[in-house]
Parts: sequence; C-alpha cells; structure tokens
Amino acid sequence: MQIQKNVPLAPLTTLGVGGNARYFVEVRTEAETREALCWASERELPLFVLGGGSNVVIADRGFPGLILKMSIGGVECGPENENRLFWAGAGNSWDPFVSQTVAEGMAGLVLLSGIPGTVGGTPIQNVGAYGAEVAAAIRTVRVLDRRDGRVVELPAAACSFGYRRSIFNTEERGRYLVLAVCYSLPKEASPELRYPDLLAFFSKKDTPPSLQEIREAVLQIRRSKAMIIAADEEDSRSVGSFFKNPILESAAFAELWSRAEKRGLTPPSYPTGGGKHKIPAAWLVENTGFPKGFHRASVGISRRHALAIVNRGGATAAEVVAFMGEIQDAVEALFAVRLQPEPVFVGFESCGTLALPAERWIGKQNESTLS
Ligand SMILES: Cc1cc2nc3c(=O)[nH]c(=O)nc-3n(C[C@H](O)[C@H](O)[C@H](O)COP(=O)(O)OP(=O)(O)OC[C@H]3O[C@@H](n4cnc5c(N)ncnc54)[C@H](O)[C@@H]3O)c2cc1C
Repeated sequence: MQIQKNVPLAPLTTLGVGGNARYFVEVRTEAETREALCWASERELPLFVLGGGSNVVIADRGFPGLILKMSIGGVECGPENENRLFWAGAGNSWDPFVSQTVAEGMAGLVLLSGIPGTVGGTPIQNVGAYGAEVAAAIRTVRVLDRRDGRVVELPAAACSFGYRRSIFNTEERGRYLVLAVCYSLPKEASPELRYPDLLAFFSKKDTPPSLQEIREAVLQIRRSKAMIIAADEEDSRSVGSFFKNPILESAAFAELWSRAEKRGLTPPSYPTGGGKHKIPAAWLVENTGFPKGFHRASVGISRRHALAIVNRGGATAAEVVAFMGEIQDAVEALFAVRLQPEPVFVGFESCGTLALPAERWIGKQNESTLS
C-alpha cells in the first residue's frame, strides 16, 4: 500500500473538475483496504472511496483527507440452482464485467451495458437504465463496516434498494466500503424490452434479437446520446444524468400539472403507486429554458442529452455547482419542483455530502461474518 500526497483528482473523474486529494491510495486487496482505513483512522482523517469517478463532483479545493481508490479485481462464478452466481471485486470496471456475463449467455445485466464506473459503484445508487436496475440481480454486497472493521455480506434485502437509492447513499452513507458484489443471474432469462428507443431499434426485426444484438443496440443508443465515455466525445465529459427524476406526491403533481397547463404544456408522467408520479427531469429542464447545447462559458447541457451537465473544457467545480443551482432555481420557480442532483459532491461543506470522518474502530484483522 503506497500513500501518495497531493494527487489531482479531476483526471480520475468523468466530469474532470476539482482539486487534489491531500492523500491518495489505490487498494487492490481487502487487506490493503483495511490497512488504508486504519491509516486514515489513526490520523483522524476523513476518507472517501472513489470508484470510477463517474458519479462525483470534486470541489475545487480538493479533498482534505484520504481518497481510497478501490481497485480490487477478480471475477469468480459458479452455479446456484437455475442461476449462475458472479462474485466480482468492487474495482472491476462495470462494462467489461457486463460483457463477460453476456458472453456467457446471461441476460440479467445486458440492459445496463455501457454504464461507466466500477462494480462497487453499482449498488450505491442502484444503477439503472432502459427499465433495468442492478437491484434485480444483486444477491449480496460484501462490505467492510467502518464502525467495527468487520467484513459482512449484506443480502440485497438489507440494502433497501429503490430508485437511485440504497442504504449506501442514504441512512448508512459513508459507513460501508464495498469490497465485492455477488450477482445472481438466471441462465435462460431474456430481458423485457420496454424502453421506446430499444423497441424502435428492433421494430423492423422479425425474429427476437440475440443477447449480443441487444447489448450492441444498448451501446449504440447510449453512444448516440454521449452516454458512453469516449475521449473524443466532449458531451461525455459529464456524470451522466445530473438530476434524478422527481417522484411527486399527488398535491405536488397537481400543482405541476396546473402550472404546466397554464403554459400550454402537458408534462409526461408515470404512476409509481400510492398516488405518486415520476416526472422526467429532462422534460422539466428543457421546458424551463435549458435546451440541449445551452451553455454558460465552460459548462453547459450536453448537445445529445437534456439531463447531462457537461464540462466543455477547463470548467471549475464552482461553475458546475452554480449552473446546477441556476437550473434548480429556475425549474422550481416555474413548476414548484426542486430537482435533486444525482452525483455525490466531494469536499464541499454545504452541498450534498460527503465523506464521513474515518471512524475509530478496533478491527480484528481478517474477521469476517456472514449474515
Ligand atoms: C456518461 C455517463 C453515463 C451514465 N449512465 C448512467 C446510467 O445509465 N444509469 C446510472 O444509474 N448511472 C449512470 N451514470 C452514473 C455512474 O456511472 C454510476 O452511478 C456508476 O455506478 C458510478 O460508479 P463509480 O465506480 O464511477 O462510482 P464513483 O463515481 O467513483 O462514486 C460514486 C459514489 O459511489 C461510492 N462508491 C464507489 N465505489 C465504492 C465502493 N467500492 N465502496 C463504497 N462506496 C463506493 C463513492 O464513494 C461515491 O459516493 C453515468 C455516468 C456517466 C459519466
């Protein structure tokens, strides 16, 4: 384990903004992860786990503690009744892992092809795309608990997965370091193609598409929206969708509806049960006067995706946060809906949050419990 000082973080993120880590370490094993945690704890330094950096906004002043870059690799698989289990180290890049499962004939993750980041990042916000969510495939999440230093296998039911949520980004934020994720994929399943773009893609096909064809379609659609990271694609210098789709209670939904109607607009909406409705954040942003391609100096909306805030080159985190606030305020003034950002803000005092201080724990080395 090698602790480095003053490491620039912007190049380790897809948005490419922010300052340095005071301390930085890349860990490749569980033992190194423990060691790094102890190192930060002994010095009472805040600690933040960085995966692929595809869902973070780093503050311009950087991070005052230890950035732990999670790079535990390895994938093991084996049968379990009708399913196949894949234990993947948290530091694996997500898409090559998805590609491996598709090559082995598993459909469970195919709709999540092309999402940037790491395996360990997927349970944090329960990544989802094209009608699929990783929650449906996760069996257990192997974590190091910062409270007591124990390694625990959390069953999916204990993770409280929901739309872009889990215990990892809500009530237990900062408590667990994800070491590995076990996915359980049915051998025979083929994915349900519900998403309009995918249905349109295959509309002229007479026979059901193969898994590989579905993966290629997802990648092609994502590429057309700059939702795949490419060095030569400026519009992919983002965190993907910057805002979550709001889920409104009936009163808030009625208010939105009446405000939209007065402007001659009909908001698209999807019932989510209990009288609540999910509204596409992209619709709110576009209809508030922030069309694709709109920009303020180095920060703007992607030309290919209405929800992606893009660093057009040389942007600062302050500019990104100011642009985010401008959109939030304008949408709220017009539609009475406050958009919530999707990425995690690192090193800011008053914006989202952040790394908790590394808590002191007396961990018995190599202790592991199953629950
Ligand atoms: C072009 C683009 C397209 C995207 N498309 C989608 C999409 O379709 N659907 C979607 O849901 N998301 C999407 N995203 C967002 C992002 O890719 C995912 O949220 C991804 O899972 C983040 O993983 P990461 O490893 O990059 O995490 P990071 O960005 O490094 O970290 C994000 C959060 O997860 C935590 N974290 C990461 N790894 C660990 C770990 N091992 N242990 C504990 N905490 C950890 C971090 O501390 C932080 O809080 C997109 C992003 C981009 C740039």
